[in-house]
Amino acid sequence: MRRRKVVVVEDEPAILQGLLDVLQVGGYEAVGAADGLTGLEQSRHLGVDLVLLDLLLPRMDGLMVLAELRKTHPNLPVIILTARGSEEDRVRGLQGGADDYVVKPFSARELLARVEAVLRRSPERPAPVKAIKTTAGTVDFERCEIVFAGGQRANLSEMEAGILTHLAVNPGRVISRDELLMRVWGIGGGNLETRAIDMHITRLRGKLNPPNTEENPDWIVTVRGKGYMLGAEVTLLTTEQPEAG
Ligand code: CA
Repeated sequence: MRRRKVVVVEDEPAILQGLLDVLQVGGYEAVGAADGLTGLEQSRHLGVDLVLLDLLLPRMDGLMVLAELRKTHPNLPVIILTARGSEEDRVRGLQGGADDYVVKPFSARELLARVEAVLRRSPERPAPVKAIKTTAGTVDFERCEIVFAGGQRANLSEMEAGILTHLAVNPGRVISRDELLMRVWGIGGGNLETRAIDMHITRLRGKLNPPNTEENPDWIVTVRGKGYMLGAEVTLLTTEQPEAG
């Protein structure tokens, strides 16, 4: 199974290292960021499962990071790290959309228990999707490959696989172009070439439904004025070994 990925945003080097060590020993992939802005960027990368967020940070404070993150990742689990006695920080953090808090100093066992608990109850904690399938064929995310029902194969670019993966782990939800930009490209900034997304989607659709195939299922549905979502006919495969055509 994929190791779950935690981003730790903490400017105190000793505490940051301690947190990374605890998480790694606990079986997580842990990535550190020493300031708020870097932490925000790291947290927006594809495949992040949880963010541990200090509040007093250089470049962008923790509550601001949380507010910005919530615009694009409304359900990404966030645990804030607060100093003992700063109840107001805690309250503001929870009001700002944090899922839980841990008071510094904390024990390794307590930290891991909190992380586990938040991940367990997180609504958007997606089952890792290995592949998706329609009558036309199967998209294998691990190989970045489409295997058509007739046995032919085609490769997906990393970006195309990223787009499809993000749609697949959010079935039934319309994903805006901005969100796709942030999640797949890791870019912030509103009017930055959202048309590039449309071009990728068009090309992706062409790959998924090449002209010579008989089946023509909707892998990706356009929701006018809002964005894209996974087609209703698409089945998610979350087993270790995706079926290959
Ligand atoms: Ca700090």
